[in-house]
Amino acid sequence: MFELLGLTETELKTHMEEMGEKGFRASQILSWIYEKGAKSWDEMTDLSKAFRQKLAEYFQLFSLKLVKTEDSIDGETTKFLWQLSDGKLVESVLIRAPGRRTVCVSSQVGCPARCAFCASGKKGLIRNLSPAEIVEQVVHIDRFLKEKEERVCHVVFMGMGEPFENYDAVIKTIYLLNSPKGLNISQRRMTVSTVGLVEQIHRFAEEDLKVNLVLSLHAPNQRIRQKIIPYARKYAIEDLLKAMLLFAQKTKRDITYEYTLLADINDQQEHAEELANLVKGHPCTVNLIPYNPIEGLLLKRPASESIETFRDILMEAGINTTWRYTKGKDIAAACGQLALKE
Ligand code: SF4
Repeated sequence: MFELLGLTETELKTHMEEMGEKGFRASQILSWIYEKGAKSWDEMTDLSKAFRQKLAEYFQLFSLKLVKTEDSIDGETTKFLWQLSDGKLVESVLIRAPGRRTVCVSSQVGCPARCAFCASGKKGLIRNLSPAEIVEQVVHIDRFLKEKEERVCHVVFMGMGEPFENYDAVIKTIYLLNSPKGLNISQRRMTVSTVGLVEQIHRFAEEDLKVNLVLSLHAPNQRIRQKIIPYARKYAIEDLLKAMLLFAQKTKRDITYEYTLLADINDQQEHAEELANLVKGHPCTVNLIPYNPIEGLLLKRPASESIETFRDILMEAGINTTWRYTKGKDIAAACGQLALKE
């Protein structure tokens, strides 16, 4: 069986022809799914019953089952926990900001990076998601929003998993989400977040895409970085930053360095100074994320004064700096927390 949501319009057309049908059936089917929000073949009433039966034998339309949702108290985030066809669990998060509805998708079950502060990394990588399984997370949430006359307009690959470890599936997902026959989400409104795989950053720079790139840096030097992200042993921090700079120059897109502030680990003044020197000259934003404590981990959130001092040092050094309050605190919004709890 073919996963329908993982097919481009051209691929679907080829399947139609193989089935002895006219190619235009492909756009008819896609419009039912992405525009009209059909949940089953039976809803596609302008297709004959016999054809719908044939389609059901040939294609898997959806495979994710919603296990539960959790809303944050402030109503700004909703977490969706999905069960995949093999029983594994992944999650997506809907983030609401004025005029913007963002979906944070998972690209793998588990994660090979094993970041110290993240629940998803605890069990390591379990398996990759297919393009259809990633697209489907957005399709369901878009349908959920449509009922409120809203639509998904931004997608971030920041959920469970390391997107560049599932590179081909992530690239195909970007094209599928961007397709005018799909959800038609602008590439400029998509962001891939990586812990950093040098070869894949170079490869990503060569793709003909306008997608934003975020590096989870989290440390001002290799020694601390390896402590926070065991996966970081694979690459020298200097090589990663060089690759990011080349990406920015090649694509003319700004880059973001995410830095989770952990008390007594990477939040001291000297760390801020070292970080400022490290990224000086990069067309970048440093996004500071004060750690949001989770059950079972001994890490702590820095005091507000340390966070402010850290930010001020970066800003005085001329580094474009943003400071993100962790959204969804009360609903275990760090990637993987809900799946892990289950
Ligand atoms: S923070 Fe992201 S990269 Fe790190 S373990 Fe969690 S899912 Fe993987």
